[in-house]
Amino acid sequence: MSLSYADSHIHIYEKPFELDTHCLYVVPTYSIDSIKKAELFFYKSHENKQPRNLIFAFGIAPQELLFKNFPLNSIDDLETSFISKKQFFDAIGEIGLDLHYGTLSDLGHMQTLFERQLILAEKYRCPVIIHSRKAEHLIFDIVKNYNVKGIMHAFGGSYEDASKLVDLGFMISIPPLKSKERKKIIKQLDMEYLLIETDYPFIAKSPDLIHESSKMIAEYKGLDVHYVETKTLENLSKLFKIDMHKLEFFD
Ligand SMILES: [Zn+2]
Repeated sequence: MSLSYADSHIHIYEKPFELDTHCLYVVPTYSIDSIKKAELFFYKSHENKQPRNLIFAFGIAPQELLFKNFPLNSIDDLETSFISKKQFFDAIGEIGLDLHYGTLSDLGHMQTLFERQLILAEKYRCPVIIHSRKAEHLIFDIVKNYNVKGIMHAFGGSYEDASKLVDLGFMISIPPLKSKERKKIIKQLDMEYLLIETDYPFIAKSPDLIHESSKMIAEYKGLDVHYVETKTLENLSKLFKIDMHKLEFFD
């Protein structure tokens, strides 16, 4: 069994589907509830002896504050909770800022939750997965203060914001959605810094749509689709320090 592509952002525990053993999946969480679901999924996949091509990330997204699912005073329990689940989670995410659901008056609380989780990532040397909607221009000024690297998930900001974040050690993840600015980002950024994702079941309604992201990159950059899939898999493996050829599998 060998890996041939990676989905850098997929909520596999939300809506079950047949996992592809050729895909490396990064599975972020965004709420207390989704952390529980991911943990259950992890246990189940071990029972069924499924391959270990899953990387789980622990995080509370900014929308959780806005939807009142996560009280700000629970913020102090996050580290204890993360340590107790450290064997399941290799990354922190998705975390960030959301000005699609939130307003500028929510920014203070969202930023507190975001920064507390950046501190966790820095302390435990985990890559971070950043969720940002209409706030891409604010992310750089926050993350530059922490020694963290990671993924800008379904990046919807400008090319200028993307290239500043790349300079900090971030990779830009491309969902199967076309836009003028995304085209510019894909054309101008080096393949070294690009990843592909579905954000299933939210952005893409099927995990197979991952190939639409790679096709889009291949088209805009004049590259072969298979090359794009292998290269983005390599980029992700580098970020998570996974040796693709030595990935441990359960038999
Ligand atoms: Zn997500």
